[in-house]
Amino acid sequence: MTTCEHCKQKLDIDEVVQFDEFGSLENPMIICKLCFKKIIEKGVPNFDPGKCETCNKTLVPHIDDWDDVFKEKLIWFMCPEAIKNPELSDHEQIGYYIVQPPDDSEPTWNG
Ligand SMILES: [Zn+2]
Ligand SMILES: [Zn+2]
Repeated sequence: MTTCEHCKQKLDIDEVVQFDEFGSLENPMIICKLCFKKIIEKGVPNFDPGKCETCNKTLVPHIDDWDDVFKEKLIWFMCPEAIKNPELSDHEQIGYYIVQPPDDSEPTWNG
């Protein structure tokens, strides 16, 4: 059992995730998946996912399947225009690890 640092619930280890606010925390916090979703949906404080180079809009999280997020430990941020219109190919999307890998502090780029 472990405790969510956010809502203080006691949970099984497979119900929590480690989250370092995309590299802004020195040590990742342990939070439950529910709190994690809420934080991502609300917007992570002090985290700037960047802007689309094509239209200058701030990238927003785009989640098809939370299970994939937890499995891959990666969240994709996309240009809101590209979410509205998936045929657009020249708009930005960037994947951010929910905990930065120790040997690679760069976000994952997908052209
Ligand atoms: Zn929680
Ligand atoms: Zn764009």
